[in-house]
Amino acid sequence: MAIERTFSIIKPDATRRNLTGKVNAVLEGAGLRVVAQKRILMTQAQAEAFYGVHRERGFFRDLVTFMTSGPVVVQVLEGENAVARNREVMGATDPSKAAPGTIRAQFAENIEANSVHGSDSAENAATEIAFFFSGIEIVG
Ligand code: ATP
Ligand code: MG
Repeated sequence: MAIERTFSIIKPDATRRNLTGKVNAVLEGAGLRVVAQKRILMTQAQAEAFYGVHRERGFFRDLVTFMTSGPVVVQVLEGENAVARNREVMGATDPSKAAPGTIRAQFAENIEANSVHGSDSAENAATEIAFFFSGIEIVG
């Protein structure tokens, strides 16, 4: 499997509890390398655009409010099969259904405040990386 990149967010519930390092330790333990990272406060427009596919879902407004409620850490992760590997180590969206040892099982508060985002395909990863990072900010 070729080296691949994926996009990750450490969400406001995790930054609020000072868990950035602990989340990164799990990512690194899974063979993923942080090749770009910055802490930002997402604007409402950014959160709405980023989660645009969920616009019609009942939880959309709450999700935008949550994602703009505090700092997030946006990241590019690199590794073998990085998209799938990251989804695996994140665990299920609902932490009560997440496998033991996953980030969400260990750290998430609930189905919304679930500590991390990870791209769900290589194509979406490329779009999401380009949304937050310029080429010179990513050093593999
Ligand atoms: P992400 O896209 O953040 O990596 P995911 O792919 O596991 O998570 P999605 O279905 O894409 O889950 O939902 C995006 C985000 O919306 C979830 O991570 C969570 O924060 C929120 N969300 C999803 N389902 C619900 C729900 N039923 N109630 C409240 N919030 C939800
Ligand atoms: Mg998703």
